[in-house]
Amino acid sequence: METRDWNNWKWQLRHAQRIGGLNEVEARYPSFLTPYGKSLLKYRAIRLQSVPDRRELIPEADTCTDPFREKTFSAKCYGVKQRFPDRVLLMVNNRCAMNCRHCTRKGLLADAEVIRTDDQLANAIGYIRKHPRVRDVLLSGGDPLLLDDSRILTFVNRITALPQIEVVRLCTRVLSTLPMRVTDALVRKLAASRKVWVNTQFNCAEELTPEAISACAKFADAGIPVSCQTVLLKGVNDSVTKLFALCSALQRARVRPYYVFVCDPIEGISHFRVPLEKAQRLEQQLAERIGGLALPRFVADLPGSKRKIPIQQLSAGSFSIADPTHQPWRLRG
Ligand code: SF4
Repeated sequence: METRDWNNWKWQLRHAQRIGGLNEVEARYPSFLTPYGKSLLKYRAIRLQSVPDRRELIPEADTCTDPFREKTFSAKCYGVKQRFPDRVLLMVNNRCAMNCRHCTRKGLLADAEVIRTDDQLANAIGYIRKHPRVRDVLLSGGDPLLLDDSRILTFVNRITALPQIEVVRLCTRVLSTLPMRVTDALVRKLAASRKVWVNTQFNCAEELTPEAISACAKFADAGIPVSCQTVLLKGVNDSVTKLFALCSALQRARVRPYYVFVCDPIEGISHFRVPLEKAQRLEQQLAERIGGLALPRFVADLPGSKRKIPIQQLSAGSFSIADPTHQPWRLRG
């Protein structure tokens, strides 16, 4: 293997493998790890996110594979999900550079509705046009940056050609899982539209490797804003020291620490859950240690809600899968 192979994202994907050893877990939630990902397994916080764990099969009350009813949201137009009037999400890929063990779509990705054909894309564009309040389009999956440059640009250019569209957000984890994917050529083409933003996910400071920092710098230098949506994960980042290290490293990399999400009520992640009271305490402790620009908002994505809910407004409650709102927490007061 030569350095140029290591820095080639397609080489990394061609040499990705399952981890193996826990066939029962992999049968349900397969693993997928590139050589780059494997090189980071020396860090416990990254191992926990990428290596299958028997605890993924522990049944947990009040969870399901699709608490946000993604399948229902996409019923109106293939591959398009709309929960909010001003935004839509387009599913453009169902592959990722790593199968995160805590992924909120871990039970959905395999047979997700993905826009692959020109007809499907034309229908999605038609749907947006018919909804003139939509100004912000998220390209998600899976990871949109695992597509070839030409395919990504087809999506971006077709969408930004609509006068109503002000923002196209690329929801990608390649900055932390496959940073060599962020090539100069791709960044240059994305920057040309002046409407592209990047949403990414870093969950621990160890993920900010020299390669990751360089990928973040390419976007920042090109004027593409990058925001980080962290997931609060037991063992990975559930201490104020770890969160401080992460948020300060993000700020040094010119990435805005934007949200910290508490885990969604999905199956297979019980071992990652941080109790709500602890999450609330962590947010307060972090606010005492770091300046506002590096302080993310701690939120919950509540099924049925029209907005992200600040966790300080929540109190622990029980919920039932039989309840169509599927709410694991209650709003206070
Ligand atoms: S990159 Fe995102 S969508 Fe893909 S497995 Fe990880 S969390 Fe899920």
